[in-house]
Amino acid sequence: MKKYDAVVIGAGNGGLVAAIRLLQGGAKTLLVEKHNLPGGFATSFRRGRFEFEASLHELNDFGTADNAGDVRDLFDELGVTEKIDWLEIPEAYRVIARAEKLDATMPFGVSAFIDKMEKYVPGSRPSVTKFFALAEEIRLAQAYSSSVNGKTDPKYMVEHYGNFVRCGSYSVNEVLSALKMPKKAKDILNAYWCYLGAHCDDLSFLHYASMVNRYILRGASMPKMRSHEISLALTERVRELGGDILFNTEAVKISTDREGGVAGVTLGDGTEIITRHVVANCAPHVVFGRMMDKAPEAEIRATNARKFAGRGFSMFLGLDASAEELGVENHNYFLYDTMDTAAQYEKMRTIKENEVQATVCLNRAYPECSPKGTCMMYFTTLYMSDDWGNIKPEEYYKTKNYVADKMIARFERDTGAKLRGHIEEISIAAPMTYARYCGHPEGVIYGYESQYWDGLMPRLQMMGEDHKVRGLRFAGGYAMRLSGYSSAYFSGDISGRQTVGDIKKEG
Ligand SMILES: Cc1cc2nc3c(=O)[nH]c(=O)nc-3n(C[C@H](O)[C@H](O)[C@H](O)COP(=O)(O)OP(=O)(O)OC[C@H]3O[C@@H](n4cnc5c(N)ncnc54)[C@H](O)[C@@H]3O)c2cc1C
Repeated sequence: MKKYDAVVIGAGNGGLVAAIRLLQGGAKTLLVEKHNLPGGFATSFRRGRFEFEASLHELNDFGTADNAGDVRDLFDELGVTEKIDWLEIPEAYRVIARAEKLDATMPFGVSAFIDKMEKYVPGSRPSVTKFFALAEEIRLAQAYSSSVNGKTDPKYMVEHYGNFVRCGSYSVNEVLSALKMPKKAKDILNAYWCYLGAHCDDLSFLHYASMVNRYILRGASMPKMRSHEISLALTERVRELGGDILFNTEAVKISTDREGGVAGVTLGDGTEIITRHVVANCAPHVVFGRMMDKAPEAEIRATNARKFAGRGFSMFLGLDASAEELGVENHNYFLYDTMDTAAQYEKMRTIKENEVQATVCLNRAYPECSPKGTCMMYFTTLYMSDDWGNIKPEEYYKTKNYVADKMIARFERDTGAKLRGHIEEISIAAPMTYARYCGHPEGVIYGYESQYWDGLMPRLQMMGEDHKVRGLRFAGGYAMRLSGYSSAYFSGDISGRQTVGDIKKEG
């Protein structure tokens, strides 16, 4: 039986960062990953002459060496920035919405964004400027919260980040209306909503503004060799710091002591690891539902009360013509039926009605990502119910093809590009693929949905109480920073450092 100060279950974004933080804090750490490679969703795969990015559209808040964002600062501290060959994404997004006849392409950079918005929506400047000022205050408040491990001083918060506290319980649309933002400007600004998978009448303003700011402020980045390059760099760092990693190893059980605290982890082959600390990079539904014999009632209730966020579906195309030849003009597209996000959310419940897509052509950021004269595209949508669970096994392939066909048709119709006839490789990931790959219930790719009672602010505030099993913390898309690359990295950072604190307290 081996003994470790801490075991990290899962080498996804959150798990990898947590492992590095534990090692940097002096903890003897084991990282176990059920796959034969690290990264979870942060990976790539090959089909023919194409290496596809599996998930990352763009990494926000990275910035450049002389204008570093929070993610770059974190990566610097972890010691991985220089291990990765970065490229910058050329523009923020192009949003096309049919009902509103909207077609807008937005740049990165706060002042460029405000200027472009003013061109599309004359008179929008004051409200959009106020939005970014508020969003920056939110970013600073979050940085303060992380720096004190979530133990924020309420008086200090009110004094320094009063607007952050004031906005705490309002939705995106409530705050944008209070800022008197014209409707068309709201529609353009709300384009990123599908990245968080909750509609703007329900989605916490703090969460959304924080994400938009993190994209627009310093632009977005991407590793040249796809997100797999980041996962490899983080893995290498774990090893450099003396951490042990077991791939092809599933953690099947977290055992507890008499008081209900963590006592060990059982691996798939029956090996028992003794530890008093676990950072789980998997869903609490899986941990409390399957991996623990005696989960506290309060944890089970809290977990069951949470709502799963979108179940993912992606189509990857390798095309035998260049982006220019095909008429694919942009890097990042959002295609919606309507910018009434609540109505759009409803349509996204069913396979039949959902036609939303977030589509990327990586060649527009990195022309050499595929062989000369070709390009690669990936199309992603989310399902806001478990409609894929209703598909019988014999209907599975037909349904995948039906959705893929709709995605291509929609892209061609909305943008004028011509893709059919040029498809050399096609690969599809349905919710079943995601459920199998990362073990997330129903094929959820965005953790738990951000809701009023369970958004960014309540989760950060509840971080202390959200810790009912001694020695068990979570990192990744289901944790306190919610889902997304940077959020998963930050949660790994927080959980890793908190666990180091727990270990030191124990002495
Ligand atoms: C198609 C798609 C597009 C996306 N686009 C973006 C984007 O553009 N920007 C963005 O910010 N986010 C995006 N996301 C979301 C982002 O990928 C996730 O939020 C993030 O990667 C989640 O990281 P995580 O730390 O939760 O780990 P996960 O990726 O969920 O990985 C968890 C890991 O734990 C392992 N594991 C689970 N259970 C066990 C066990 N019992 N034992 C051992 N190992 C276990 C799994 O094998 C996996 O490796 C996208 C996701 C998808 C799928």
